[in-house]
Amino acid sequence: MTTPSRRPLVVANWKMNKTTGEAAAYVHRLAEVLQPGSIDVVLAPPFTALQAAAQAMGPSTPFALAGQDVFWEDKGAYTGEISAAMLKDVGCRYVIIGHSERRRVFGEDDAAVHKKVVAALRQGLRAIMCLGESLEERERNRTAAVVTGQLRNGLDGLSQEDLLAVALAYEPVWAIGTGRAATPAQATEVHQLLRETLAATWGAEAAQQSRILYGGSVTAENSGAFMRAPHVDGVLVGGACLDPDCFATIARSAEHRVIEER
Ligand code: PEP
Repeated sequence: MTTPSRRPLVVANWKMNKTTGEAAAYVHRLAEVLQPGSIDVVLAPPFTALQAAAQAMGPSTPFALAGQDVFWEDKGAYTGEISAAMLKDVGCRYVIIGHSERRRVFGEDDAAVHKKVVAALRQGLRAIMCLGESLEERERNRTAAVVTGQLRNGLDGLSQEDLLAVALAYEPVWAIGTGRAATPAQATEVHQLLRETLAATWGAEAAQQSRILYGGSVTAENSGAFMRAPHVDGVLVGGACLDPDCFATIARSAEHRVIEER
C-alpha cells in the first residue's frame, strides 16, 4: 500500500546536560557535519541553553529547537515553570511532552500531559508526546492497554488539524538509558497499534500522516534498523545525541528512509 509521505523526524533530547557555551559549541559542530535535506532535525537543550543554541543556529539554520517540557498556563504565579509562549519567544518550534522521566520522577499523569499538549498547540508549537510501558507492564502483557490509554488521554478532544501538529514518541521505559533498545519489530508492532488507534478517532488519512518516533537506547549502530522498520518515522535520542558527531550519524540514517509503507 502506498501512503502519504511522512517526513522523518530526528530529535536530540539533551536532558539536563550542557551549559550555554557547550550548547553553542555543539550547534556549531553539528552544522559542520550535518546538512539535513529531507528530514527534520530538532534539538532539545535544557531551558537555560535555548537562547544560546538559537543564537548559534542563526536565522537560516536547518535545525529546529524544542523545549523539553512546558507548563499549561500562559503566565502567572507558577514558580519554576515555563510557558509555551516563552518557548516560542526563545525560538522553539517544538516541545517534548510527557517524557517518561517527567512522568516517573515528577509524577506527571495523563491529565497533565493532555493540558500541556493543548497549551503547546494553542501557541502554535508542535508537540512531541511521549508514551511507553514499564518493564513490569510489558511482562504482564499490558503494553497495548498502557500505550493506547496514554494516547487517548493525552490527545483527548484534539481536532484533526491539531493532530497534524503532534508527533508521538514510543519510548518503552525499560529501554530508556539502559542500553537495552527494543527490537525494530517490537517498535513496529506498537507503532502500528498506535496508528490504528489514531485512525479509529481521527480517520485513516490523519493517522497515515502522523509521525511516530521510536526512543530508547538508540545509537549510531542501531538507528538505521529502526529507520527501516515499518511505521517508524524517526527517532528520539537521549544519551547518544550528546556528541554532535554521533547524533549526525544517527540523523543521516534517517535521510534515505523509504516512505512507502511496507
Ligand atoms: C530519551 O531521553 O528520550 C531517550 C530515549 O534516552 P536514551 O536514548 O538515552 O535511551
